[in-house]
Amino acid sequence: MQSKSQWLKADADKVLIAGPCSAESAKQMLDTAHGIAARFPKAILRAGSWKPRTRPGNFEGSGVDGLKWLKEAGKEAGLKTATEVATPQHVEAALKAGIDIFWIGARTTGNPFLVQELAESLRGTRMPVLVKNPLHPDLQLWIGGIERFQRLGIENIAAIHRGFHAYENSGYRNVPRWQLVHALKSIHPELPVICDISHIAGSTSHLRAIAQQAYDLDLEGLMIETHADPANALSDSDQQVDPETLFRIVNGLTQRVRSFDETDAIDQVGELRSRIDKLDLQLLDILVKRVELISELGDLKRANNVSVLQLERWKEIIDNCMAIARTNGLNEEFVRNVFLQIHDEAIRLQAKMLQEFAEKGDQNP
Ligand code: PEP
Ligand code: MN
Repeated sequence: MQSKSQWLKADADKVLIAGPCSAESAKQMLDTAHGIAARFPKAILRAGSWKPRTRPGNFEGSGVDGLKWLKEAGKEAGLKTATEVATPQHVEAALKAGIDIFWIGARTTGNPFLVQELAESLRGTRMPVLVKNPLHPDLQLWIGGIERFQRLGIENIAAIHRGFHAYENSGYRNVPRWQLVHALKSIHPELPVICDISHIAGSTSHLRAIAQQAYDLDLEGLMIETHADPANALSDSDQQVDPETLFRIVNGLTQRVRSFDETDAIDQVGELRSRIDKLDLQLLDILVKRVELISELGDLKRANNVSVLQLERWKEIIDNCMAIARTNGLNEEFVRNVFLQIHDEAIRLQAKMLQEFAEKGDQNP
């Protein structure tokens, strides 16, 4: 097992990786690098030079030119540099350009063939590699990506948590699912984790809250997309901040105590928590009763040969719930997600019932 990477912890208690989503021009990189270095002289300057865009036709990066602008800006401002590599050709170009740290993007981590090729192209180098989580919440795939580099002798490895794609609208661009970071840490406690708050947030208004959560969890660092002129950024304009806002976010982080045990509010908390526990029991009791009704309804569907999934009925349920959520000031997306889960489970149970019945019929024709 490797010890916490020294390059990460060497000169600061937390690592800060800041810089634009994409390297766009020599001037943009220089202005951004100076803005960052003036406030955080130990930051690492990031920029992407090949951008994995969801649909074609958007700005796809500046390739080798971008690497040159990144490196020169880093040199001028006295910052180490980091970029994304997604193919062995990118690795070759970025090594040649003298970039200090590589990161593996979320779309690449999801592809073990590509990760293996990248690991092989880095074999024998001492390059630090940061592995982002894959787009979907697959912890094993994330760990697998990390281990492919470890097995080929890459020693300076860290994970980047950038949130996970969710089909439902969560309010964030990518849902954090902090539990997975916790699980990763329990399997690989030696691994530093950097939180890419920008790709979780998707919009600058969420950055502070997410940064604080990463800080509360004592993660080893933050990645924050920073651009000298965010409004005119060629990619991810909505989530980038200027260097002054970066400064305010990082300096606004507050040290919080880990539990109520250390506070005077402990008795009050006990009382509130026991009331919450009672409500949770009621919720569970309601779920048990709901499952009973679902099963009676399943019998009727079977007896009348009616299909399990009734989209009209789902629409009726969700419309009613949304109306009640709206009148009571509940977050509609939250209510939608809860009922999606409840409805999915009802459909799963009824489909299982009908299937079991059909299989019995097959055995006793
Ligand atoms: C990025 O860091 O600019 C990027 C493309 O991130 P991700 O791979 O997390 O989507
Ligand atoms: Mn980006």
